[in-house]
Amino acid sequence: MDSIIQGISTFRDTVFPGQRRMYERLVRDGQHPKALIIACADSRVAPEHITQAGPGELFVCRNAGNIVPPSSQVTGGVSSAIEYAVMALGVRDIVVCGHSDCGAMKGLTNPEALEAMPNVAAWLRHSHAADRIVHEAYPHDIDPASRLRALALENVVVQLANLRTHPSVAAGLARGRLRLHGWFFEIGTGDLLAYDGDQRRFAPFAEEGGMPVAEAPAPRVAAPDLAGTPPRGAGAASEGARALAAE
Ligand SMILES: [Zn+2]
Repeated sequence: MDSIIQGISTFRDTVFPGQRRMYERLVRDGQHPKALIIACADSRVAPEHITQAGPGELFVCRNAGNIVPPSSQVTGGVSSAIEYAVMALGVRDIVVCGHSDCGAMKGLTNPEALEAMPNVAAWLRHSHAADRIVHEAYPHDIDPASRLRALALENVVVQLANLRTHPSVAAGLARGRLRLHGWFFEIGTGDLLAYDGDQRRFAPFAEEGGMPVAEAPAPRVAAPDLAGTPPRGAGAASEGARALAAE
């Protein structure tokens, strides 16, 4: 803990004085984060560090395996973070960020190792679909390292699907107000891959070509006779929620 305590002192005595105005502005204006990032709790995968974002710029939710439980199954931290980010903060971009060498994904491939960790084992059930995909859709003879990497990549795609089951996300997508991203951080090289929803595969992030997105904003309603109806306003619920955020 010594280095952490030293860090707190350094922040308070050296860093904060130089950033005082920014923090005062964040208190005055409230937070307006650019995106919600759901990332793994792995200490090597720090979203603010990877994106070089400062305070107030990202709304971050981290857990083992960058998992998004389907809306109907669990009422918990991830669900409420999503709902608050979309409804109260008006976030327009949501990122699910996986990474290489993920301990949660290793646990998924080695259930015996989780016998003494029943909560982790239960949590990882939300990634079983990714495990099945790798078992059934990938060649059987791929080496363990490639299998682990494929599992972590497929897990991001599975969690994006779970994300769409959340009512605030489903409505935001239908209104064309949300964009979904699937990222994969390579710890050893610092590279970032992004899921391309059109190609249905990950591609390297290249600044010139723009960032591939998992799902671009595209307003849609399924009812054919009402397809031309202009979208309604944000609705009473989200206006109330925004007021909550502004308090
Ligand atoms: Zn991880």
